[in-house]
Amino acid sequence: MDEFEIIRRLFTPDKTSDSVIIGVGDDGAILRPDAGRDLVAVVDTMVSGVHFPEDLNPADIGFRAVAVNVSDIAAMGGRPRWMTLALTLDNADQDWLEELSSGIASAASAFGVELVGGDITRGSEFVISVQITGDVEPSLVMTRRGASPGDSIYVSGSPGDAALGLSLIQSGDTQLAGSEYLIGRFNRPDARLQLGQAIAPVASAAIDLSDGLYADLGKLLAASGVAGVIELNDIPLSDALLRAVDRTDALRYALGGGDDYELCITASGASVIGIGEHLKTPVTKIGRVLEGQGLSCTLGGEAYDYRDDGYRHFH
Ligand code: ADP
Ligand code: MG
Repeated sequence: MDEFEIIRRLFTPDKTSDSVIIGVGDDGAILRPDAGRDLVAVVDTMVSGVHFPEDLNPADIGFRAVAVNVSDIAAMGGRPRWMTLALTLDNADQDWLEELSSGIASAASAFGVELVGGDITRGSEFVISVQITGDVEPSLVMTRRGASPGDSIYVSGSPGDAALGLSLIQSGDTQLAGSEYLIGRFNRPDARLQLGQAIAPVASAAIDLSDGLYADLGKLLAASGVAGVIELNDIPLSDALLRAVDRTDALRYALGGGDDYELCITASGASVIGIGEHLKTPVTKIGRVLEGQGLSCTLGGEAYDYRDDGYRHFH
């Protein structure tokens, strides 16, 4: 298949909504936003061997590349609408590309986002870049900047599972009890879209977890100009994680692991918990916002010295 056949056969949606005036096939996409909504734009690039193992199932690569962008939109309180897709292909094996395209299509349908354009180039390694434009009610935008002393700190889901899932993929250890669940947490992140929209009216700040709870919450606190403390015994650890590793390592995965794509939220009331219950999305209070700067940890109320080794590309 040449580039144009690939686009036509694998990356041209059968139908598009009325908001897509011109989609795949022209020089650019023409999109019609709803009146009164602001746009939210995000992009994420994933390099094979850096952001996921080279031999990861292509359907999972495609799903994940979309989901991590949706997660950013969720953290802003927005709704994903249109995406463009840039691929650098090291080889264009047809079956592999078909699976990639099916993973992208299933994420697009799961999260309600439409593919409206993209680019394909040849290069020495596989790179996938997804750009999503979403929209948001202007008065309900969530940012990293609004946390204030006295707010509670919440996290959705059970952080650490995806990081252990990735290490199981890398070690090839798929016999372990719970490994299917844990690997699924890496391959198919949820992206807490409904939760993000539902908490936007009550949250003071939010961030999605890509680099690890400790590092990402630290970014939220720094952006808000406040300090925070989390109680490690309150971090929700999954049964699968606790069965697989001891408690200290489980906490290390949860704090420093990354790839969770859960939301970390600050809010002053307790309504965040109720909203989570209503959506059947687990949300747990893990700490408090304080005056000052920096993120500290307690374990059973005692100060606990956690050294962050969250993921960074450049040191
Ligand atoms: P141009 O040269 O004007 O950038 P191309 O010939 O590269 O256009 O692409 C043709 C059309 O196919 C464009 O509408 C472009 O957005 C779309 N397209 C290219 N690659 C992809 C892709 N991977 N997924 C979806 N659409 C794509
Ligand atoms: Mg052109």
